[in-house]
Amino acid sequence: MPHQIPKQTDVFIVGGGPAGLAAAIALRGQGFGVTVADPALPPIDKTCGEGLMPDGLAALARLGVTLNPQHSFPFRGIRFVGGGSSVDASFPNGTGAGIRRTHLHQSLIDRAEDTGATLLWGARVKGLSGTGVMLNGGAVECRWVVGADGENSRVRQWAGLENARSASLRFGFRRHYRIAPWTDCVEIYWGSGCQIYVTPIGRDEICVVAISRNSRLRLDEVLPMFPELSGRLQSAAATTTERGAVSATRRLARVYRGRVVLVGDASGSVDAITGEGLRLGFEQGMALAAALADGDLRTYAAAHRQLARRPAFMAALMLSMDRSAWLRRRALRALSSEPRIFATQLAMHVGAATTADFIRRSMLPLGRHILTA
Ligand SMILES: Cc1cc2nc3c(=O)[nH]c(=O)nc-3n(C[C@H](O)[C@H](O)[C@H](O)COP(=O)(O)OP(=O)(O)OC[C@H]3O[C@@H](n4cnc5c(N)ncnc54)[C@H](O)[C@@H]3O)c2cc1C
Repeated sequence: MPHQIPKQTDVFIVGGGPAGLAAAIALRGQGFGVTVADPALPPIDKTCGEGLMPDGLAALARLGVTLNPQHSFPFRGIRFVGGGSSVDASFPNGTGAGIRRTHLHQSLIDRAEDTGATLLWGARVKGLSGTGVMLNGGAVECRWVVGADGENSRVRQWAGLENARSASLRFGFRRHYRIAPWTDCVEIYWGSGCQIYVTPIGRDEICVVAISRNSRLRLDEVLPMFPELSGRLQSAAATTTERGAVSATRRLARVYRGRVVLVGDASGSVDAITGEGLRLGFEQGMALAAALADGDLRTYAAAHRQLARRPAFMAALMLSMDRSAWLRRRALRALSSEPRIFATQLAMHVGAATTADFIRRSMLPLGRHILTA
């Protein structure tokens, strides 16, 4: 049953992707009246690696979102493959899950509907007004506007929050294949200037994403660089057509101004290789709800900075392997000969290791290996 456009709401959320819906659920939990608008019709698809790390699943559970086991696939860890070697490790804090983006979106919608949020689909926000937002079909007054309109956020522009401390772009292309997953890990294949990652998303389906700095580099050109993988996919039918998206690394100087506040990719993002974009959006949504309940967006800005720190650091580490063939070769060789180092890195990645542990048990031995290998 489509919702009517209300005249007034406490919080208006521009964008009904994962971050907007997570914010809606969390804000309803704090008792706010919430309206969400999105020009697309659900469930919304988007290019994504479709992997949720254990900390992402934990965030979803805190939002009260349950994933249908029929529509998701558990994975125990991450495997790096490249330069003739491979290494894998298990998460120390549970399993992750691969899930088609459309199934994840539907689960978030179901929960947001249950909480009583008003969801307006096919409704594009056209601008901000002195008292709220303007959308096709009417104006809505609100106390707060949340920009959850993704990587290319217009709300960010309208509110004058474009000023970024850092920004760089990579490009991802995704396709699904009908094939039983051959591993219970997400695999990351490291090539020259590109990576492919493979996420099991069902008993007979996987998601394959190629990512690079070259906007023209498509999956079919990248796959032959990885004969083992392309061999496996040769007889597998593609179940979707190739679809692309930008993966930005962006840190904004500010995430709110006046009554306008940003969440999810609109508020800055980490490179897709981290598999942490979704979790960040979920956690930001919860941090925002807590801050608005206290009426103080400074606590949101502080939480946002804190949340971004670990994935930004891990992304920088991984992207240094993308930039330098020498480092990539040596690091992959070192990690495969000392899988414990990789296990500590993975534990850090998912928030299950302290920085001190990480430095002592991963960075120092890895540095030694790389320099002496
Ligand atoms: C190649 C690639 C692979 C990735 N792999 C992973 C992964 O494996 N795991 C992971 O956790 N993350 C991954 N990510 C990141 C993840 O996809 C994003 O972090 C996530 O989609 C951000 O969600 P969002 O809700 O902020 O933005 P979006 O999903 O982009 O949603 C924004 C919404 O805003 C709507 N909108 C836009 N303009 C307006 C408007 N004017 N009015 C109203 N609505 C509007 C759009 O229609 C859209 O639905 C990947 C990203 C890329 C590019």
